[in-house]
Amino acid sequence: MTKASFHTHEVFNQSPPFWDVDLFNVDRPLVDAVTGNGGASAAKELSEFGKHWGSAAMAERGRIANENTPKLRTFDSRGNRRDEVEFHPAYHELMAHSAHGGVHNSTWTADGKPAGGASEVVRAAKFYMASQVETGHLCPITMTRASVAALAVQPDLLARVMPVLSTRSYDPSFAPWWTKRGMTLGMGMTEKQGGTDVRSNMTRAERSADGYRITGHKWFMSAPMCDAFLVLAQADEGLSCFLMPRFAPDGSINAIHFQRLKDKLGNRSNASSEVEFHGAYAERVGEEGKGIRTIIQMVQLTRQDCAIASAGLMRSGLAHALNHARHRSVFQKHLADQPLMQAVLSDMALHVEASVALVMRLCRAFDRAPDDAAEAAYMRLLTPAIKYWVCKSAPGFLYEAMECLGGNGYVEEGILARHYRESPVNAIWEGSGNVMCLDVLRALSREPDAAAAVLQQLAGESRGLPGAAEAAAFIGRAFRRPDGERVARDAVEKLALLAATAALNAVAPRNAELFADTRLAGNRGGMYGATELPNDDIRRLLERALP
Ligand SMILES: Cc1cc2nc3c(=O)[nH]c(=O)nc-3n(C[C@H](O)[C@H](O)[C@H](O)COP(=O)(O)OP(=O)(O)OC[C@H]3O[C@@H](n4cnc5c(N)ncnc54)[C@H](O)[C@@H]3O)c2cc1C
Repeated sequence: MTKASFHTHEVFNQSPPFWDVDLFNVDRPLVDAVTGNGGASAAKELSEFGKHWGSAAMAERGRIANENTPKLRTFDSRGNRRDEVEFHPAYHELMAHSAHGGVHNSTWTADGKPAGGASEVVRAAKFYMASQVETGHLCPITMTRASVAALAVQPDLLARVMPVLSTRSYDPSFAPWWTKRGMTLGMGMTEKQGGTDVRSNMTRAERSADGYRITGHKWFMSAPMCDAFLVLAQADEGLSCFLMPRFAPDGSINAIHFQRLKDKLGNRSNASSEVEFHGAYAERVGEEGKGIRTIIQMVQLTRQDCAIASAGLMRSGLAHALNHARHRSVFQKHLADQPLMQAVLSDMALHVEASVALVMRLCRAFDRAPDDAAEAAYMRLLTPAIKYWVCKSAPGFLYEAMECLGGNGYVEEGILARHYRESPVNAIWEGSGNVMCLDVLRALSREPDAAAAVLQQLAGESRGLPGAAEAAAFIGRAFRRPDGERVARDAVEKLALLAATAALNAVAPRNAELFADTRLAGNRGGMYGATELPNDDIRRLLERALP
């Protein structure tokens, strides 16, 4: 890097920016996880995506979209309602690039069926790479992709929506969705009196000549410029799911009144609204009274994406930390060559290896679930466990990554401060930590045989690895307890660790051994680097993380 000269000093010993890299090929654990889970044939496509998203231009868009946050324009200058949210052009560009890559729809065929093959794994690799650059815009991207699973229960509606949803165009115009080149979908469940407990929803739905009219509110409804929202409301037969478009069928603006936008810790490029519905037009999705069953199909997919995005954020933290440590000298030696920093970075690399192997293994289960009962059981039991462990580990990991950059890590010009502020939300939304643990218990109680078979499979796949047998026995005992909630966090964490060990064993066996030894057998303190890995393994882990 050329040295910059100021009147008072020269600038040197600062690390170069980590951009203009191929986010796919520079990441050996990602390549191995994609290959090991059926996605090898997409390597060229993923490399093109990785180069594009790893460019300086995309990094710049991410920064600008977060510094220029969305603005709610409730009224026009004459006092008419507008209910529009304005985003910086950089946000629209990020949306357009994700849509162009099919991140919002490529797991579906043009008529809304699962695309099959390794489409989940390939799309997840793209989601993982995009989340390393900008996560806020991925909220509508993930909701759009996931909504198809809920719309599938209403085939007539799905057939109308798919021709617009299945294009790779991003069309930000404020116009009826059926007139557009592409569309995005959001979701409104959470109300003031209850988010987890959606049964407490008070928003009402009344039948009308053209469908339903919805009256009430939502306390959180993100990405408010989506073309339509899947909304829960109480109908005659109970809580039901509806599709509420921004425009009514006659082309008039629907009665969706945004009250204000949330002032959030992170996720700042994305708008999250508080909203009231004043007799807003909607059409039903699925049967009346079956709203939770309908929307849970969507939530299963958004939970999967929370885990992928958190793994991606951690990967970015690791890459930036390594890039810095390899260029920054302290006491005449690069940080990357200092034994204590190597201990920290290699332990972090091991965590990311396990996280990416685990989320890609989960995506393979999503790919295969329609035709394979064992994979469907894996998906059902492990999705909440993986969301729990991966998402909850991200803030602590990103803090450590930040610290690797010293003071530079803490300031807003770098990306790590943004990643750190972003990271808690994936654990909170789409079902918070305890709710994920309760969901694992629910899966166990509803399908105990299928869950026991998954546990047995994981134990088999990690046989002989340190602490694996003990972990499997502990999980089995904990899940048989009548007061399972008391030990649910411990058991769900161990379940995720065992699944990570098994997933890693399939793609990088030596790393599975190290992971099991430090995480399952407990040969590690509470902080990154508080373990002694062999020198050869340290070198290998760091080389794999960033050649
Ligand atoms: C940035 C952001 C954007 C969002 N966007 C949307 C959106 O677009 N659409 C939408 O519908 N919602 C959205 N949400 C809402 C989000 O999904 C909820 O906030 C979340 O599900 C938690 O619900 P709650 O806030 O009502 O908390 P609560 O349900 O009150 O939960 C509080 C805590 O209690 C725990 N808990 C709950 N039940 C139990 C139990 N039985 N035992 C033990 N612990 C329990 C939870 O794990 C949580 O930690 C968004 C939230 C955020 C932060």
